Amino acid sequence: MTTVEQALEYIQANDVKFLRFQFVDLLGVPKNVAYPVKSGEKGIDELRDVLTDGLYFDGSSIEGFVSIDCSDMILKPDLSTLSVLPWRPSEKSVARVICDVYRTDGKPFEGDPRGCLKRIMGKLKEEMNGEYFVGPEPEFFIVKPDPHNPHKMVPADSGAYFDLEPLDEAPDIRRNIVFALENLGFHVEASHHEVAPGQHEVDFKFDDALKTADSVITFKTTIKMIAKQYGVMATFMPKPFFGMNGSGMHCHQSIWLNGEASFYDENAPYQLSATCMNYVAGILEHAKAIVAVTNPTVNSYKRLVPGYEAPVNIAWANSNRSAIIRVPAARGKGTRIEFRAPDPSCNPYLAFTVMLAAGLDGIKRKLEAPEPVERNIFAMSEAEKKELGIDSVPANLKDALDELENDTVLKEALGKHILENFLELKTAEWDRFRISVTDWETKEYLKI
Ligand code: GLU
Ligand code: MG
Ligand code: MG
Repeated sequence: MTTVEQALEYIQANDVKFLRFQFVDLLGVPKNVAYPVKSGEKGIDELRDVLTDGLYFDGSSIEGFVSIDCSDMILKPDLSTLSVLPWRPSEKSVARVICDVYRTDGKPFEGDPRGCLKRIMGKLKEEMNGEYFVGPEPEFFIVKPDPHNPHKMVPADSGAYFDLEPLDEAPDIRRNIVFALENLGFHVEASHHEVAPGQHEVDFKFDDALKTADSVITFKTTIKMIAKQYGVMATFMPKPFFGMNGSGMHCHQSIWLNGEASFYDENAPYQLSATCMNYVAGILEHAKAIVAVTNPTVNSYKRLVPGYEAPVNIAWANSNRSAIIRVPAARGKGTRIEFRAPDPSCNPYLAFTVMLAAGLDGIKRKLEAPEPVERNIFAMSEAEKKELGIDSVPANLKDALDELENDTVLKEALGKHILENFLELKTAEWDRFRISVTDWETKEYLKI
């Protein structure tokens, strides 16, 4: 908890001259209104007022927010998120505070993705005295213009998994990314070159889902800004290059009940509790609709194909990475499941909302999980998969959106406003892709 007086002190001590009131649109794109901090007693009094009551803004042009006839909204700052931005000047500095979006009648705005996650986490707290923890593993590429064709972006190095310099050409970028993240309060656990050329991963410690969703937004901006300082570009596009690994954002997750880790049971099979198994079963049952939110772009489905360590099969396993859920070896308090479908193009608030909704549905209905599939599913025939009841994720965004439209549990968790706007925006995105003519098509069919 940070009080208004503590926030004022922080702002003055850090010579903050601009305070960004930040939030995200429906697609998870960060937005802000910058408030100029004035000096003198009058300036501080005015700042105290906006920190207490929030800042009015016009929400009519925000993707998926409100229509033009009802646009006034309020950004209410969550003062615990107040932080100076390390990539902005250190004198006359810039800080940001993450906000909740309210209507002017004082009610939380039902289209605010952060509010949506808060709603379902509040329900978990109220109904089961539960907490939801998520640890994401966002991957990204660093790209630069192709020296032979400046209009084309290519991976910035030719390094591979865990490579060192000189093959890894980004140790300084990652070093500065880690320092910047630490300045922003992150507990960074590891950073390394990933499998594909130009691909990297920086992992930070799990936290409650709301803090983690805030962190994912901050993380993406930080990485992009530090890369930019080096004259290269960082991208979280799920599958930037055909024939190479894509970028995932695997989400490790667990539920705690009454202050205790609930996924561990010393005496259960695999030492995984009934609650854990029900949660797994819930995610598996809703997986086809979940991916519409955790993998929300046309390009996301180019990643979810066999052969690149990304999941395709709706099954769970203890160590097999071809299943959509893997349970890492840690037990006791560290017992968690890893849902491997999400990619970093998702809106983390909505992604965590639908994963939690699915898992809770499994717990409430005591859904039974199937047996784990420890063999490489990519090597199985269609007949074998059918016999074992292993289904696949939707093949494209349109199929996933159709699944979401038919999933009452996920629809309820998102709420009418978010669901309708999400479906509308994403269907339009699909239609734009559907009518475009790709390079692949011209290459394949021009000879006809
Ligand atoms: N890049 C892989 C993916 O798309 C994951 C690689 C890994 O296991 O770290 O999910
Ligand atoms: Mg990885
Ligand atoms: Mg992983």
